[in-house]
Amino acid sequence: MMRIVLLGAPGSGKGTQAQRLQAKFNVPQVSSGDLLRDAVSRKTSLGLKAKAAMEAGQLVSDAIVLGLIRERLSRVDAQNGFILDGFPRNSDQAATLSKLLIEIGQPLEAVLLMDVRTKTLVQRLAGRRICKHCGKVFSVAALPKDMTCPKNSKGHELYQRADDKEEVIAKRLDVYQSQTKPLIDHYNKLGLLKVIKGEGDLEAITARMEAALKPAKQKRKTNAKTAKKKTKSVRKVTVKKVVKGTRIKKKTIIKLKSVALKKPAVKKSSRKTLAKSGKALVKKSSKPKAKNVSRKTSVRKK
Ligand code: AMP
Repeated sequence: MMRIVLLGAPGSGKGTQAQRLQAKFNVPQVSSGDLLRDAVSRKTSLGLKAKAAMEAGQLVSDAIVLGLIRERLSRVDAQNGFILDGFPRNSDQAATLSKLLIEIGQPLEAVLLMDVRTKTLVQRLAGRRICKHCGKVFSVAALPKDMTCPKNSKGHELYQRADDKEEVIAKRLDVYQSQTKPLIDHYNKLGLLKVIKGEGDLEAITARMEAALKPAKQKRKTNAKTAKKKTKSVRKVTVKKVVKGTRIKKKTIIKLKSVALKKPAVKKSSRKTLAKSGKALVKKSSKPKAKNVSRKTSVRKK
């Protein structure tokens, strides 16, 4: 189970890393940008409404994006978690997301902020090319001279996203600063934010993200252990009370006897503790000296 948001400026690697985590953890990448691009290319009514804003580097209206996200999160593959990529992008979207996740009983576990310098963001966005055939994303610097898809020898053509043109990049970065960046503080206050250094080797970035996600899981395990310990100590207290008490009801003793008899596999250390507080009963219960046990019980009954 993984329910996370990837936060970061355009070009910070949210999409690339979401795809890597998706493959590793088998939870879907839910990218608002991809959902919108799909709607635009299918020329749906939502897509036609979104197109102009996208090409200008502006945010698409909340109502359109929320409708797409709500529908996507209701699909079967998102029931065991999701990696939200590019959503939320302003505080209204964050508030609606939180309500939606409470509604569907899937609260966020963490928000990973991909921290990348502006200089690197611009270089990445301006140099991004996508294969028309397989949809894979490449950097101009890593392309062969003929600028075709390096994953295929058939010379598949690459294209540049309309909003990756330099004049639109500046607008998108402005929008990030003014509308999305405040979410860093919002999620930090909620204790969900983890900052990931988003530059360098892809593998290393993924490893940092995985490491940041681990404590949340370990914390849950520790909580489960503490809960178990609490149950044990309550049992011990019950034993002590019964053995040390002078007026003990018949019902309580029978219950105690059955606990001791039914749990012969108690660890050595726990047996010692039990033996300290109620020697006779525990010792006798671990060996089949039924007579002694019942005698003790009958003495107590009086
Ligand atoms: P992305 O692929 O995430 O960079 O998104 C590409 C474009 O889609 C953005 O520049 C926006 O125009 C639009 N978009 C993506 N996600 C959102 C969102 N959560 N809210 C509003 N517009 C969005």
